[in-house]
Amino acid sequence: ASTPAPGARVTEIEIGALSKTFGRGAQAFRALSDVSVSINRGEFFTLLGPSGCGKTTLLRLIAGFEQPSGGTLRIGGREVAGLGPNQRPVNTVFQNYALFPHMSVAENIGFGLRMQRRPAAERRETVDRMLRLVRMEAMADRRPTQISGGQQQRVALARALAPQPRVLLLDEPLSALDLKLRKEMQSELKRLQLETGITFVFVTHDQEEALTMSDRVAVMSEGRILQTGTPEEIYNRPADRFVADFIGDTNFLDAVVQDITATHAVVRLPGGARLAANLPAGGGTAAGATVTVVIRPEHARLVGDSADGPADEGAVLSGQVERSVFFGTDTHVHLRLSDGTPFVVRRQNTAAATPPPEIGREVSVALAGGAVQVLRN
Ligand code: ATP
Repeated sequence: ASTPAPGARVTEIEIGALSKTFGRGAQAFRALSDVSVSINRGEFFTLLGPSGCGKTTLLRLIAGFEQPSGGTLRIGGREVAGLGPNQRPVNTVFQNYALFPHMSVAENIGFGLRMQRRPAAERRETVDRMLRLVRMEAMADRRPTQISGGQQQRVALARALAPQPRVLLLDEPLSALDLKLRKEMQSELKRLQLETGITFVFVTHDQEEALTMSDRVAVMSEGRILQTGTPEEIYNRPADRFVADFIGDTNFLDAVVQDITATHAVVRLPGGARLAANLPAGGGTAAGATVTVVIRPEHARLVGDSADGPADEGAVLSGQVERSVFFGTDTHVHLRLSDGTPFVVRRQNTAAATPPPEIGREVSVALAGGAVQVLRN
C-alpha cells in the first residue's frame, strides 16, 4: 500500500452493519443494531449515550471480549472477527482501573510488555518513558494502595499505552473521580492522546466530557448510532430530537415551513415571527410542512436586557417569566410562551447584568437566526 499524504485521513477502525444479540429465543435481547462507523487514525472518538444504549457492548466488540452477531469489523485494514483480545492491536482501560495490587506501579506498567516477552532493557526504557508521560516517576515503587485514585487512573493509562497499541479503548475511565480531578484528568487524557498519536475510542454518558475532549462523537440510543459528527456539528446541527435533547439544554418549537432552499428554510414560529433556519442534511421537508426547530438557550435573548447576548434580530417571541435558575457564569430564565410552550433563555452574568426579570413579567425574546436548526421529522 502507498503511504498516505501527510494530513490525509486514514481509517483505523471500520465498522459495518454491526449487530449484537445477547441470549436466545424469547430471552434474546438486541443490544446493537446496524451500527456503521469509520474511526480515523489518531482520532479522539467518543461513544456518547444514556445508560444501557450499547456503548460498552460496542467497545467490547472492538476489544474482542464479545463476538458480533452480524456485520464487519476491521482494525488497521484487517478483519478481526474471530480474533481474541490479545490478538488485536488494541488495549482497554476500564472504569475500575483493575491494577494488580501485589505489583508496584512500575511493574504494573511493565506487565503487558512482559507478556509480550520484550527484552528487559527495552521494558525498562519503555516503563521509564511511560512513568514520565503520566508524571508518576516519583511513585514507581509504590503499590496501588499507596497512591490516590487519580494516580491509579494514570498508572492504568500508562499500563495500557506501554505496549503501544494502535487503538486505546476507554470505558468511562474518569467516572470514579471527583469533579475537580475529573477535569484535570480530562486534559491529561487529551494531552496523552495528542502526544502518542494513538487512536482513542472513549465511552461516556457525560455530554460535556464528550464535547470538550473529542474530535468526533457518535451519539447512541437503544443500540443504534443516531448521529456522528464533530462536537460543533452535533451541538449546533443535531439530526433529531433525541440528539438535540441529549446534548445540552434545548428549546423545541413547532414551526411551519414557508420557504425552502437546499440548505435553509424560512419558518413561521408560534406568534407569527419568521426566521431563517438550517435544514438537516438530506432535507426531507417541504413548504407548508409543520416541523420542529431547535433553539439553544444561548441563542436567544430578552429584548432590552442589559446582559450580553446575541444581537437582536427580527424574530421575536413573547412570553411570561416562570422562574430563573442561577448557574454562576449565567442564569437560565424559564418562560412560558403565549401559546403555552416552555422556553429557556440563557443570560450571561456579566458585570453589567442587572438581576433577571421577576416572575410573572411579560417579556419579548429575540432570536439569532443562523443558529436555529430544523429537525428531521
Ligand atoms: P452504561 O452506560 O450503563 O454502562 P451502556 O450504554 O454501556 O450502558 P451496555 O453495557 O452496552 O450499555 O448494554 C446495552 C444493553 O445490553 C443493556 O440493556 C444491557 O442490559 C444489555 N446487555 C449487556 N451485556 C449483556 C449480556 N452479557 N447479556 C444480556 N444482556 C446484556
